[in-house]
Amino acid sequence: MQNRRAVVVGAGVAGLASAIVLSKLGWRVALLERRERLKGDDLGMILWASGVRALRALGVDATLDAAGTPVERFEIRNEERLSSSFAGAMLGADDGTPSVMVHTAMLYEALVSRLGDRVEVHPATQVDRIDMVDLAAGDASRRWNADLVVAADGIDSPTRPLIAPGSPTVDAGVVVFRGTIPAHRAPERGAEAVEVYGPDRRRFGYGDLGHAGACWWATVPGGMRPESPQIQHELINRWFADWPAPVGKYIAATRPSELTQQSVRYVWPVPPRLHQAAGNGGIVLMGDAAHGVAPILAQGASLALEDAVTLGWALRRTPESIPDALASYDRARLPRLKRVARLSRRVHTIASGGRGVTRGLLRAVPDSWVQSQAASLADWQPPR
Ligand SMILES: Cc1cc2nc3c(=O)[nH]c(=O)nc-3n(C[C@H](O)[C@H](O)[C@H](O)COP(=O)(O)OP(=O)(O)OC[C@H]3O[C@@H](n4cnc5c(N)ncnc54)[C@H](O)[C@@H]3O)c2cc1C
Repeated sequence: MQNRRAVVVGAGVAGLASAIVLSKLGWRVALLERRERLKGDDLGMILWASGVRALRALGVDATLDAAGTPVERFEIRNEERLSSSFAGAMLGADDGTPSVMVHTAMLYEALVSRLGDRVEVHPATQVDRIDMVDLAAGDASRRWNADLVVAADGIDSPTRPLIAPGSPTVDAGVVVFRGTIPAHRAPERGAEAVEVYGPDRRRFGYGDLGHAGACWWATVPGGMRPESPQIQHELINRWFADWPAPVGKYIAATRPSELTQQSVRYVWPVPPRLHQAAGNGGIVLMGDAAHGVAPILAQGASLALEDAVTLGWALRRTPESIPDALASYDRARLPRLKRVARLSRRVHTIASGGRGVTRGLLRAVPDSWVQSQAASLADWQPPR
């Protein structure tokens, strides 16, 4: 596979991980990113044990290289009491792999540092054409020919409708405010990731980012708010007034400039196929471009890392034929992607239920069910 060339569109988690995998296989890779710099956001995210295993397969240790903080317990609460909880260790039960909270910018740094010299990075390159016949991608002035095009350009990928026209994005009807607080100002925190389900379909989660501080995420029904960060901060204060400690402390410790607002959408249904063969090569969808799942179960980045590792496995397994490798990739990924997307959508729908519905369900659902679903989500090993 020495002389093979790939062009990867998008340098998010999926694109960076794909570029690492391909370069390790000896491919030459052009990594095209529209932003000026390859840099992650100042946000925290959860990487489940499955994602941590995928990172390890790429040569990145989530705790050592990406400064991830192991999550000892996951807790789901309502305003009055703990509803469900399970040990983080349970998710990595077979091999003791931890789930971790990571600072996105540090995760990106760790991935960028593994790209290697076979990867040519082209920042500030807004790809506006992908040729699916004579495989290539480019912008207004340049074109990169390839044996494989990896479309890792996020949930709005224009390539997904071409490969899978029946898998649009769906508006989840909620918006998420996220805050990252530097360590010297962060409230006292433990080694648990907590999400509190309140009335009126609001939720508030928080976790520890170690030296990078602490992070929280607040989900509220409705669309993006047009107000200034200052007013948004006041609104969040009002919406979450009277919630149990330490919710108020997280909000109070956050400066308006440390707030990020994101609309939530997901791809539904999962595409029936993730690639298209073209001659002796092909084009493949990766990460959110393929399957952007509802973020309520914090699976998206882990899935993107798993995608890349599985692509590497498929290309190693069938080195003589890229189309055959892409077909194996689809077969290996689709059952898991469908399961995770279905569960994420179902939990999102329950959590978006009217007043009392979520609270009633939180009371009714046995701990053992939550634990077994969580364990099945984390149950992924790099294919061999
Ligand atoms: C509120 C919220 C909370 C979340 N929390 C978690 C969590 O805790 N854990 C978790 O695992 N996941 C979480 N996720 C999901 C996770 O962020 C995504 O699944 C993951 O970032 C997807 O990575 P990606 O590389 O596929 O896409 P993206 O991160 O969207 O990257 C796509 C890249 O492509 C570039 N690009 C796009 N178009 C072009 C173009 N035309 N030309 C060149 N470049 C282009 C973009 O600039 C970007 O860099 C959350 C998502 C949301 C919305």
